Amino acid sequence: MDYIQVKERIEQLREQIRENNEAYYVFDSPKIKDYEYDELFRELKRLESEYPELVTKNSPTQQVGDRISSGFKEYKHKYRLYSLDNSNNYDDLRKWYERVLKESTDKYDLELVTELKIDGLSCALSYENGVLKIGATRGNGIIGENITENIKSVTDIPKKLSKNVNLEVRGEIYMPVSSFERLNKENSEKGLKEFANPRNAAAGSLRQLDSKITAQRDLHFFAYTAIAEDKSLFKTHEESLKFLQESGFNVNPNYSLVKGIDEVINQCAYWENERFKLNYATDGMVVKINDLNKQNELGFTSRAPKWATAFKFPPEEVWTKLNGIELSIGKTGALTPVALLEPVQLAGSTVKRASLHNFDEIQRLQINTGNDVLIKKAAEIIPKVIRKKENQDCGIYETPKYCPSCGWELVKPEGEVALYCPNTTGCPAQIKGKIEYWASKEAMDIDGIGASLVEKLYNADLVRDFADLYKLTTDDFMKLDLIKEKSADNLYSAIQNSKNPSMTKFLTALSIKLIGKETADLIANEFPSLQDIKNAKIQDFTEIDGIGEKAAKSIVDYFLDPQNKKVLDKLQEYGVNPQGSSFQKISNVFAGKTFVITGTLSAQRSVFEEKIKKFGGKVSSSVSKKTSYVLAGENPGSKFDKAVSLGVIILKESDFNLLAEGSNINE
Ligand code: AMP
Ligand code: ZN
Repeated sequence: MDYIQVKERIEQLREQIRENNEAYYVFDSPKIKDYEYDELFRELKRLESEYPELVTKNSPTQQVGDRISSGFKEYKHKYRLYSLDNSNNYDDLRKWYERVLKESTDKYDLELVTELKIDGLSCALSYENGVLKIGATRGNGIIGENITENIKSVTDIPKKLSKNVNLEVRGEIYMPVSSFERLNKENSEKGLKEFANPRNAAAGSLRQLDSKITAQRDLHFFAYTAIAEDKSLFKTHEESLKFLQESGFNVNPNYSLVKGIDEVINQCAYWENERFKLNYATDGMVVKINDLNKQNELGFTSRAPKWATAFKFPPEEVWTKLNGIELSIGKTGALTPVALLEPVQLAGSTVKRASLHNFDEIQRLQINTGNDVLIKKAAEIIPKVIRKKENQDCGIYETPKYCPSCGWELVKPEGEVALYCPNTTGCPAQIKGKIEYWASKEAMDIDGIGASLVEKLYNADLVRDFADLYKLTTDDFMKLDLIKEKSADNLYSAIQNSKNPSMTKFLTALSIKLIGKETADLIANEFPSLQDIKNAKIQDFTEIDGIGEKAAKSIVDYFLDPQNKKVLDKLQEYGVNPQGSSFQKISNVFAGKTFVITGTLSAQRSVFEEKIKKFGGKVSSSVSKKTSYVLAGENPGSKFDKAVSLGVIILKESDFNLLAEGSNINE
């Protein structure tokens, strides 16, 4: 670009940004996606930094937000509200931190606080002697709108604090995702305008001139900044958050105090996926220097503090080309279409495949090879296809009639959307899938056996079901390409060492339709031996809390099938014996409690699992808000960190033993 072109481009960008600012801030109705807006903004910033002489005072880069929408009184903020500078990736975060370190007097790692960036509407609250006087929007940061009446109808904004202080509070007003969806549903039924996202719904609700309407909307508030007249009240950002909490505010619980930028990045990476489980929208993380003196030392640029940065989560949606559809056959014969995509960057990773779930979904999307499709990162690891480009006709992918692996005609069981290959014991894809699953971590946990080895074993005619694994010798493995004696030996031992699994693992590993790990666990807890399970009737299973008719029928059918009987007999012959859980409940001290175990304990994990169950508790493999306790041994893993971030109580082994004896521990 020559100089004239640069000038023109800058003007064009400013115009576009202003237009979108207006749509966003004034009409609560954005025309473009946030990340598209960010791209415009970034390009403008880049050009302006290359041509500093072209920077003007009224360029959007020099301002915060946009003008006030009419209808409310203006209010001049006591302290200016700044915007935040963005970090678009981990590199940006590191650069920001380097700059901070350079300007700071300390050269060692600093304490930082990471917070979720709530995607709502920021507002400023002014308290005098603990009483709410003014509530205002950010506006341009210097002047906002006085929306005190509306603010007062937000139930979790305290009208009077538990402390008699002069305090400025900033935070985010937001609408929970579930309430947003409900509101849109109601609006669409009434023929009213639907909001584009929870942020716009919150903004639209808050800016109602009639505060009675605001009061009907489900609005909430998270406080994230406190400015006190009395500077002795808190010295760090973290202390200020605690102070806010003690004063009666909701502070988002998912903040962390960390040291150095690596830990910041860990938090960002963690929340990039976890955030989808929250009932409020987040568009990034905010990273702040913890020490308030240091914050003052660093100060502000014309629009943002230097002591903070906003890490933007990468875009969750992107367009790419559908290169084809692959049919994958699961271990129970269910056929899943998988979209093969032109590789594209999405949410920090390269995506080549996306789930299409089933053939009804393909009909709904009306897609075929050649279409441009929009893909989205969701809570799951595998992204999904949202829609195709409008008016682009490539036909619709034809639903297959025959199994691509064995050629049998596919069936669609009543009441199910999935197509199945009914050739459960003869279909190569299903056989391989079952063997692979048998060895997987969740099932028998045999090290070293994955898809490619199973493929080789199958092609060499060495296995036809998972029982065959137990007759393999070291020599058999060495017959396969590229397997050396040492690894062959290891594989052999790993298989032989798996002969005494817990009943839960064994049942899970069988790949019985509808019987996953959780259900297998319920069954294992109820029956003392495999023989008892084989003898049980449908009703014996449905009597177990958590097992329905379909699952019960599936398991009874499984043990009646002569092919399955053959495999089970073979397993027995080779000495594979699941350990019946002959325990009996001896107490209820853990009733209603869910445990997750991490790290190395003084005995095998199964000992503790058994103990938990004996005392009436449950064991789960992953930490969530529902987890009651995490039992942590030496060198705990990521579950420990997750427990910390969710505020789940962590027990040392000694705490656990005390609890089991019925004593209380100090949290
Ligand atoms: P921006 O809108 O990109 O200028 O980013 C600044 C805005 O982020 C603030 O005005 C707040 O509305 C919002 N925000 C959301 N969560 C936080 C948080 N935890 N700390 C600071 N700002 C936040
Ligand atoms: Zn098949």
